[in-house]
Amino acid sequence: MTVTDFPTTASGVRSPIPDLPAPSAGERALAAARFQLAEASRFLGLDDGLHDMLATPRRSLTVSVPVRREDGRLEVVQGHRVQHNLSRGPAKGGIRFHPATDLAEVTALAMWMTWKCALVGIPYGGAKGGVAVDPATLTTRELERVTRRYVNEILPLIGPEKDIPAPDVGTDEQTMAWIMDTYSANAGYSVPGVVTGKPTALGGSLGRAGATSRGVQIAALQALASTEGARSPEGTAIAVQGFGKVGALAAQYLADAGCRVVAVSDAGGAVVRPSGLDVAALRAHAAGTGSVHGYRDADPLSRDELLELDVDVLVPAALEGMITADNAPRVRARLVVEGANGPTTPEADLILAGNGVTVVPDILANAGGVIVSYLEWVQNTQAYSWSAGEVEVKLRDLMENAYRAVADLAAERDLTLRQAAHAIGVGRVAEAHRMRGLYP
Ligand code: GLU
Repeated sequence: MTVTDFPTTASGVRSPIPDLPAPSAGERALAAARFQLAEASRFLGLDDGLHDMLATPRRSLTVSVPVRREDGRLEVVQGHRVQHNLSRGPAKGGIRFHPATDLAEVTALAMWMTWKCALVGIPYGGAKGGVAVDPATLTTRELERVTRRYVNEILPLIGPEKDIPAPDVGTDEQTMAWIMDTYSANAGYSVPGVVTGKPTALGGSLGRAGATSRGVQIAALQALASTEGARSPEGTAIAVQGFGKVGALAAQYLADAGCRVVAVSDAGGAVVRPSGLDVAALRAHAAGTGSVHGYRDADPLSRDELLELDVDVLVPAALEGMITADNAPRVRARLVVEGANGPTTPEADLILAGNGVTVVPDILANAGGVIVSYLEWVQNTQAYSWSAGEVEVKLRDLMENAYRAVADLAAERDLTLRQAAHAIGVGRVAEAHRMRGLYP
């Protein structure tokens, strides 16, 4: 055999080894999560062994999910469930349906869930799930089959005392209802506490649907009040990237608080209106057409331009890796409040900090969702329900306490809010490990 017998790879050389693909978005997210952990470990003086434990998930399960399409074809998609840490309680975290999701992304998201739960003081470890499908291309019945089969495959891992899924990108109340039903059918009785973010008819909590967005509003208003010369919300200009479950309601709640939401974007496009958008009308338009694109009472804008608008607050509420070394120098907002998980890369973080931009990090700003998930699980396990007002008070309390702890540590030790949030979250998990010791 000679070299000429080898196939030509995409980069034009003859080799039996194909070119290595560029890192996926998920691999970049995992590298970012590990970088943040390494920084926190250094700050806390953790030993290498403990750092290694925290840098790797406790359990990961990858499953093949065969799906029968409506036309009779069989397709196989990959799913994952990762439990990153279990030292403070059962694993907790959403399930994502997105075509680009992979094991690395789910691992990064699980790791962020661990720090998030520890930071806001709820008794969970972190987990995440993902199925590599685009829900927009599936019928409702196909989606139900994917959900039930995926859940069946990860069944040994989940349970109200073990690992409690919830909604994330591409999943919703209906997905959670199917999960609850599949798990309950296997158990032989109803187990509402196996998932959170359920419809209220099945034991879902009042206030859960809008909880992440409410938390984003609380964090943004707290940041406005404590930075930039204690700004009041009135007239504050806001741009929101991502007009899905989190972004659309965050825009609404911020507008309700008196802010001027001037621009929003989604996968279909972006719109801008400097005097302020009518967020309720825009939500109705997006609900009807599937996108903010084409909304009449605003001008069209490119999705990239939205990140660089001259606004007071930018709310990235889409996916990971959106604010990067490329566009961070052009971000003009003074405050970035992360509704999404991992929207800012570590390189972008450095640039933003250098430019005096305050970033309220994901594990703090978007913690409202898992906080009300926790409240839902507590209600389920007590077979009792709280009023919307009671849920809102508890959510506000936990969010505001976490924000204050982060802001105080950041001021005291000259850290960014992200560094302070990670120091607290990672520190609490490390403390739990130390107290429990190693078995055997
Ligand atoms: N998927 C949400 C998050 O990233 C919520 C998770 C949960 O409620 O368990 O925080």
